[in-house]
Amino acid sequence: MGHRPRKRFGQNFLVDRTIARRIVDAVNPQPADHIVEIGPGEGAITALFLERISHLAAVEIDRDLAAELRSRFNPAQLTLCEGDALQFDFASLSTQLHGPLRVVGNLPYNISTPLLFHLAEFAAHCVDLHFMLQQEVVARMVATPSSPEYGRLSVMLQVRYAMERLFGVPPESFRPVPKVQSAVVRLRPLTLAERTALGVPRDAAVFASVVNAAFSMRRKTLRNALASMIDAPAMERLGVDPGLRPENLSVKDYAVIADAVAGCG
Ligand code: SAM
Repeated sequence: MGHRPRKRFGQNFLVDRTIARRIVDAVNPQPADHIVEIGPGEGAITALFLERISHLAAVEIDRDLAAELRSRFNPAQLTLCEGDALQFDFASLSTQLHGPLRVVGNLPYNISTPLLFHLAEFAAHCVDLHFMLQQEVVARMVATPSSPEYGRLSVMLQVRYAMERLFGVPPESFRPVPKVQSAVVRLRPLTLAERTALGVPRDAAVFASVVNAAFSMRRKTLRNALASMIDAPAMERLGVDPGLRPENLSVKDYAVIADAVAGCG
């Protein structure tokens, strides 16, 4: 295909077939799976999936690419949803396909964080998610407390998913060649038992505001960063040292604080 890559849609097409195969191998699609690809682009991964399973759904924003995909794959093979994945209702797609989704994608890097947050709302409708992302974003997703990469993205995703970095991908694997290294990551929604063990926050909105407030003042101690929400003695009663910094707290610590702030601690 002779498509001219559009920067505004984060188009870096995967041209290394070995990497494309490794992604499909990592997903290991089965005939009964409901695979949905975000941003199929020129179909590098799409075509490989369709060698192994008979049907796939995809969400693509670029009209020209959508038209090319429609002429290449028939509707029985590819259900193509033309539109913005950031606005897409993955729950409706899951209902339409009669089963939970397996989401895959070489994601547009310019919208990767908002897309991860949007998809987190549909975690209950997903079996798993496999993404190619900027390596630095993957490092933040899987980071452990007290490491430099640990932050809002780590906490907000780790409260919902078990995540694993699978392998790195060099810039030469794409056209055009990006300035950054990439990596493939697997996200698996935590089971109810896993979430309970972690101390799932009772109020997701309060949890998000506590995490936001903490990491917007990363250099301050918790005593100062969370002053408008909870005082130091209350934190101490929860077993959290208010002299620590936001990056020192585990996901469970944040859940405990959020429950106290929400009045259900
Ligand atoms: N999957 C292809 C590959 O591996 O070569 C293309 C990957 S390219 C990094 C990102 C793709 O996502 C492009 O096809 C782009 O048009 C599409 N895209 C960008 N923003 C999008 C959005 N908001 N919703 C859906 N697709 C989007």
